[in-house]
Amino acid sequence: MTAVPVVIGVRSPNPVIAAGTAPASRGLVDTHGRVHRDLRISLTDRCSLRCTYCMPEQGNEWLARTSILSTDEIVEVAQVAASLGIRTFRLTGGEPLLRADIVDVVRRVAAIEGEDGPVEVAMTTNGITLAKHLPALIDAGLTRLNISIDTVDRQRFADLTRRDRIDDVFEGIAAAAASELRPLKLNTVAMRGVNDDELPELVAFAMEVGAQLRFIEQMPLDAGHTWDRDSMVTREEILEKLGARWTLEPVPGRGGAPAEKWRIDGGPHEVGVIASVTAPFCGACDRLRLTADGQLRNCLFSNAEYDLIGVLRGDGASESDRRASGIADMLRSCVHGKLPGHAINDPSFLQPARGMNAIGG
Ligand code: SAM
Ligand code: SF4
Repeated sequence: MTAVPVVIGVRSPNPVIAAGTAPASRGLVDTHGRVHRDLRISLTDRCSLRCTYCMPEQGNEWLARTSILSTDEIVEVAQVAASLGIRTFRLTGGEPLLRADIVDVVRRVAAIEGEDGPVEVAMTTNGITLAKHLPALIDAGLTRLNISIDTVDRQRFADLTRRDRIDDVFEGIAAAAASELRPLKLNTVAMRGVNDDELPELVAFAMEVGAQLRFIEQMPLDAGHTWDRDSMVTREEILEKLGARWTLEPVPGRGGAPAEKWRIDGGPHEVGVIASVTAPFCGACDRLRLTADGQLRNCLFSNAEYDLIGVLRGDGASESDRRASGIADMLRSCVHGKLPGHAINDPSFLQPARGMNAIGG
């Protein structure tokens, strides 16, 4: 079947039209030789928190409920993606645990056989309601968890997330720590004047619960467009603060992982830094993203989106063979259109119109 014409930068202030078709290769290999193995699926743009670096407190324009992909649609896309070499599906959002059928989504995606056996199903969550959901999620086949926590201070948490719910997050982390899911990762966005004085304390907290903390440089993806390069806390600064307390030794063998890792005081504990702004790792990027409303993206920072929901619901969508080949063509086109790197550090960089909660982190 011929490839479906692509792209529509529909949500971009400067729409990018990248018409064309990708060669029908078996795997998802881009024009720079990067093999794509990881698909991040956003299940909703809604959230139980309002982290200042991600969402505004009010005035969010939510995706229309009718445009949110159904579980059948997600599973169909995941099946085709797995047949093209995707091995890991990371469920995210917004807050993925807000999705009413989250356990069903995990169970059905985890049942997919990839090229080399069962696929991995991971989740990034803010931890709220995790304690309640975790046994069912593990039973359904969840294999890995990342929980986000930016402070261990109650008042700071309430200020930063605009919700007084730190106990729910602690409860979620405790449940995850008591489970068999390993490695357990905690994500922290480092922010000046917010939590940059408690970075070692956060690492100590992670070590205590048997988790690995990864600091994330704040990225220009807040829905309020308030990101400021001059005030962001950099990788260097994070390492300096941790280095004042511990000896850090780089862990080799990063592969395509976004985090660089360091062994703490000879091990076994490790800490990671995801330095998307000051030390981009685009050369090894193996990730694609699917938004909750069915748009494929080849980069967090891209302004182009590939209209997969059009394939799932448009003309000819009633024929499953036609749909499957349309999905495959769209995945290939999205990969084919991937640039060698993001342009955050370029003066011409334009922040994507969607906030992080609507892209899927
Ligand atoms: N709600 C879930 C959570 O917070 O873990 C999943 C979605 S959230 C968008 C995924 C990750 O993106 C979180 O670790 C969050 O801290 C991170 N994130 C959100 N906005 C960010 C930004 N502007 N810069 C860096 N990381 C960001
Ligand atoms: Fe919600 Fe996660 Fe965004 Fe915080 S970072 S507002 S928890 S989606």
